[in-house]
Amino acid sequence: MARKTVLVCDMCNKEVEDGKGATMRLTYTDARRGSKQADLCDGCSSGLPGQAVARRGRKPKSLA
Ligand SMILES: [Zn+2]
Repeated sequence: MARKTVLVCDMCNKEVEDGKGATMRLTYTDARRGSKQADLCDGCSSGLPGQAVARRGRKPKSLA
């Protein structure tokens, strides 16, 4: 049997349950710096800065 990969929060090191938590992806403006990402539990992700982003696929009305 394959061993289940356990996701651990990069902030508090607690285990993140299946279907919970979030992945934070940081992309540098300077492309040479690449990007990095962190796995977060629900608690830590809600305490981080950032704002809700609209889902892709629909353009704002003002553009038409
Ligand atoms: Zn956490």
